[in-house]
Amino acid sequence: MTTNSELWNKDKKLDRQQILKQYFGYDAFREGQEYLIDSILKGRDVLGIMPTGAGKSICYQVPALMMEGITLVVSPLISLMKDQVEGLNQAGVHAAYLNSSLTPGQYRKALSYAREGRYPIIYVAPERLVTPDFLDFALNATISMVAVDEAHCVSQWGQDFRPSYLKIVDFIQRLACRPVVAAFTATATKEVKEDIIDILLLQDPALVTTGFDRKNLYFGVMAPKDRYGAIKNYLECHPGDSGIIYCLTRKTVEEVWEKLKGEGFPVARYHAGLGDEERKSNQEDFIYDKKPLMVATNAFGMGIDKSNVRFVLHYGMPKNLEAYYQEAGRAGRDGQPGECILLYSGQDVVTNQFFIENNQENLELDPMARKTVMERDRERLRKMAFYCFTNECLRDYILRYFGEYGGNYCGNCSNCLSQFENVDVTESAKAIIGCVESSHQRYGTNVVIDTLHGADTAKIRNYRMNENPFYGTLAKVPVHKLRQIVNFLLLNEYLMVTNDEYAVVRLTEKSALVSGQEVQITMKMAKEQERPAKTGGGRKRESGPGLQGMLSEGDGVLFEKLRQLRLEIARVEKVPPYIVFSDKTLTHMCSVKPKTKAEMLKVSGVGEYKFEKYGERFLQCVREG
Ligand code: ADP
Ligand code: ZN
Repeated sequence: MTTNSELWNKDKKLDRQQILKQYFGYDAFREGQEYLIDSILKGRDVLGIMPTGAGKSICYQVPALMMEGITLVVSPLISLMKDQVEGLNQAGVHAAYLNSSLTPGQYRKALSYAREGRYPIIYVAPERLVTPDFLDFALNATISMVAVDEAHCVSQWGQDFRPSYLKIVDFIQRLACRPVVAAFTATATKEVKEDIIDILLLQDPALVTTGFDRKNLYFGVMAPKDRYGAIKNYLECHPGDSGIIYCLTRKTVEEVWEKLKGEGFPVARYHAGLGDEERKSNQEDFIYDKKPLMVATNAFGMGIDKSNVRFVLHYGMPKNLEAYYQEAGRAGRDGQPGECILLYSGQDVVTNQFFIENNQENLELDPMARKTVMERDRERLRKMAFYCFTNECLRDYILRYFGEYGGNYCGNCSNCLSQFENVDVTESAKAIIGCVESSHQRYGTNVVIDTLHGADTAKIRNYRMNENPFYGTLAKVPVHKLRQIVNFLLLNEYLMVTNDEYAVVRLTEKSALVSGQEVQITMKMAKEQERPAKTGGGRKRESGPGLQGMLSEGDGVLFEKLRQLRLEIARVEKVPPYIVFSDKTLTHMCSVKPKTKAEMLKVSGVGEYKFEKYGERFLQCVREG
């Protein structure tokens, strides 16, 4: 019997690196990808917890092309499946999806091709898995892997629980031979993670958790007097880029959309008040870059996988940071610079409070539970509002909210770029190190900080730290700053913390440099004074460097030409432009300026198959410059 992988990959036994290059056009794996792929290839279950845009799909697509037999990918959203399958087909991989968007005829045909072993990868909706038709196919095929995308949908803890996801386990148990089970999600809480392992019955899974940080995204907050003016100014400064403008209410969507349309911007709208047909076609206009701008409520975006969204502007503050980070995170999925800017006004808090008090979804809850939920929501809103007021690094604020520790300075958010200054902290550093030394390196960071600050607590008295020579010497430095300085010293190895449950602060070889006169310690810190009111007037750039900003003027012109060519091809092929080549690939092309096929194949995202299809046309475009 010829298995499907022989059928389509018969003359070449490629290794994972070659597959990555040949089909996806990439030179190197990203963090975590290799480990997950190798584990799968060894037959081990895996769980990948990676933020949006980290590249989860590659983790199952690459091994799928190397294993005997078929990989089934369970995915909750029809639009996502379609997008993934189009992407694979464009890359020269035969893939299909089986879901309710197919007519019965199309479904039967796809299944019969599947039986012939034409597809190494098949996307399937969870509710299809245990239907007689599908089982009849699956029980007679070699299923080597079941990849579960958005695996948090099995958990009732998450926001997106889908009962149909529970069918995955039933399905796997019916198969004569247990396939590798590979689960992926971007939701990182402990409960969800444990649920995924328990419910999907993962066997000793190889686990990869990459951080939540999206380094390519710039975060900004503005409080312009004229919000519409600020949005318009932003769009004028970013012509041709694709972006989303989120509004809090349908009414605002209508107003903003109407005005922008009137000014000639290529803009679509989306909210739950529009009919199915219109929503669908507006969404397509956006995805296919017919209208690269979208004004929408939070109803828009679930399952939108458009990789070339360059910015997400919020015309108003969302109700919590979970929602904000999810919506903002739709920018820059291709790893290229993206910008997330929140334009807030004091009124937003009131609007959100109204939403919370009148939440229809909570009506079924008993009064006690309802009260708890409401309190939790108010607390979340409060933290969201703080995000708009803080002078600290915005990225750090977000990461801390999600339970991660970032540095206190990222250099790529509106606060870091405007609210930070270099501060000489040598004196404080000396006192901190002196305190650690004089207390014989016996205590953790909290005791050290409390001592320096001169706290009068039972603990400090018990440890007799109130008698320490450094007690109260930094009483004037606010505790949060002291903590930042201690973190800075730890990060730069002037101090260390033991790796046991006591987490005691110890000196290092470098500590002596500070207590001697050898080094001066400076670090970035948030300025103390009030944030000056930012206004959105004038045609100035209120944003980070952005994608275009990274190209020289000449390259910017070439980028536009390549983008135009991509659009023409996409129209003919009837696929979204970013499926032809991502923005990242186009920018890379602008800097490499390939003259030959070999040079073109070096561009990230250009594989053999895509070169055959479009390579010459893009080469021609680059040559003409
Ligand atoms: P996720 O599912 O984790 O949100 P995707 O799988 O959609 O992310 O990948 C995001 C983008 O990153 C895609 O455009 C994908 O082609 C690209 N990508 C994935 N892996 C790599 C890699 N190793 N090198 C370069 N780009 C990659
Ligand atoms: Zn920052």
